[in-house]
Amino acid sequence: MRLVLVGPPGAGKGTQAQILTERLSIPKISTGEMLREAADRGTALGIEAKSFTDRGQLVPDEMVLKLVMECLTRFREDEGYLLDGFPRTVHQAEEFDRWLADRGEALDAVVDLEVPSEVIVERLSSRRVCPSCGASYHLVNRPPKVHEVCDECGHALETRDDDRPETVRERLRVYHERTEPVTNYFRQRGLLISVDGQQPVDEVTAIVIRRVAELTASRK
Ligand code: ADP
Ligand code: AMP
Repeated sequence: MRLVLVGPPGAGKGTQAQILTERLSIPKISTGEMLREAADRGTALGIEAKSFTDRGQLVPDEMVLKLVMECLTRFREDEGYLLDGFPRTVHQAEEFDRWLADRGEALDAVVDLEVPSEVIVERLSSRRVCPSCGASYHLVNRPPKVHEVCDECGHALETRDDDRPETVRERLRVYHERTEPVTNYFRQRGLLISVDGQQPVDEVTAIVIRRVAELTASRK
């Protein structure tokens, strides 16, 4: 199974990716997490990426494409994967399609989590993330069992540098300009599944799993 999760910042991609990777037994690749890890390690790529992410800008296509392709090349062909936050531009989508076609592979589905901007601004103002395992929490909707501590791995939770209100506004602007067209790209290819991301987390997961199964069955 090769799946992609798209949607605006704060739509719930990371939350769903964490659950779906276990439920579907496929590895997850989150470009945002990989870039944050690289920045924390102080690598040249991480430091350069942070100069974009901190301003709410997308990291240049060629940097992200190289990162994702290198990572996917290490996976077994039959293993499948779940991509969280990639592709985020039409150019990334086209290059990724070419890369898949060269290997005789294809995506099974692209899930678009739909959440209105006003809900996103609220969600991101109360988001806490685990820098160690990537789990995502909300201080009110999805609080950790122990205040500011990750349920999964016990690491101290953090506020993301790019979740400041002014950066969130810029990320939303960039999303509408550069990432929304990616949903049309996949819709035209019959791969897009749109899901209301405002429902409770477990319901969103159940709908995603059901709709992906329906779409893949309809192709057989
Ligand atoms: P993304 O990876 O798309 O940026 P996250 O998964 O980090 O988004 O979710 C953003 C915030 O919204 C987090 O605080 C998360 O706990 C919360 N959240 C995620 N899904 C839901 C949901 N279905 N209902 C309410 N809050 C949610
Ligand atoms: P995320 O964790 O998915 O919210 O991503 C955090 C930030 O990393 C984004 O705001 C971008 O700056 C950068 N980023 C993540 N994925 C991509 C991508 N596919 N293309 C460009 N930039 C990305």
